[in-house]
Amino acid sequence: MEKLNKLYEGKAKEVYKTSDPNCLIVSYKDDATAFNGEKKGTISGKGAINNQLTNHFMQMLEKNNIPTHFVKEISKNETLVKKVKIIPLEVIVRNLAAGSFSKRYGVEEGTRLKKPSLEFSLKNDDLGDPLINTYHILSIGLATEFEIERIEKYAFKINSLLREYLLKFDVELVDFKLEFGKTPDGKIILADEISPDTCRFWDTHTHEKLDKDRFRRDLGGEKEAYFEMLKRIIGK
Ligand code: ADP
Ligand code: UDP
Repeated sequence: MEKLNKLYEGKAKEVYKTSDPNCLIVSYKDDATAFNGEKKGTISGKGAINNQLTNHFMQMLEKNNIPTHFVKEISKNETLVKKVKIIPLEVIVRNLAAGSFSKRYGVEEGTRLKKPSLEFSLKNDDLGDPLINTYHILSIGLATEFEIERIEKYAFKINSLLREYLLKFDVELVDFKLEFGKTPDGKIILADEISPDTCRFWDTHTHEKLDKDRFRRDLGGEKEAYFEMLKRIIGK
């Protein structure tokens, strides 16, 4: 598969066209951003770790009947994926209260939720990714009722599969963000990434943070946290 011109450069990844019109190459960067790009930095090795962890998780999900964009890992930080039309929604699933949920609802960080919860944000940096409900999604025409149902079903299934999987490595899945896309034949599949950039991972026993919150909150040890996740899950 030949890598062609760059189509897009985002905050964490670059996206390239390939000689196959149905596939793209995503290249993960070491750049780290937070607060909608206001805070910038570099976490050396992050790109390769996020690429490998994402691919590992997506292959586990595929084995459990979740369709994903994963095709093939090409190098430490590059992967061939199915090209999709991204549905411009951030799908956020939570098991424990943290971050914006804790702030918005006054629920102490670390409180176990009585039931996993799900919310949507509109994926739009200029608007600051505002919360959006299903009525709004339907009114604007971002997705159909059927598609929303599918996305919610997949998101909760991914949550239970990933939560259980991570517990074997003493990692608590606090919350995470997913993106879904549509294939040319109209199927909804999981796209983008599943990594310490997009998930909150806590050590089950100590509640030590093993994710991007170390960078967001200036806790230090962000590089070590990413390497620790790689070591626990992939063993490198
Ligand atoms: P952002 O755009 O938020 O800065 P990234 O730096 O991660 O994010 O850029 C990757 C971009 O690629 C995102 O806009 C994401 O929605 C998009 N993307 C992820 N997977 C696919 C895919 N399979 N097909 C098309 N676009 C994708
Ligand atoms: N998240 C993400 N991208 C975003 C916003 C959130 O990947 O643009 C992830 C984040 O890593 C966390 C979950 O979604 O795992 C919930 O984030 P929250 O809404 O609490 O936002 P934050 O506190 O990060 O602003």
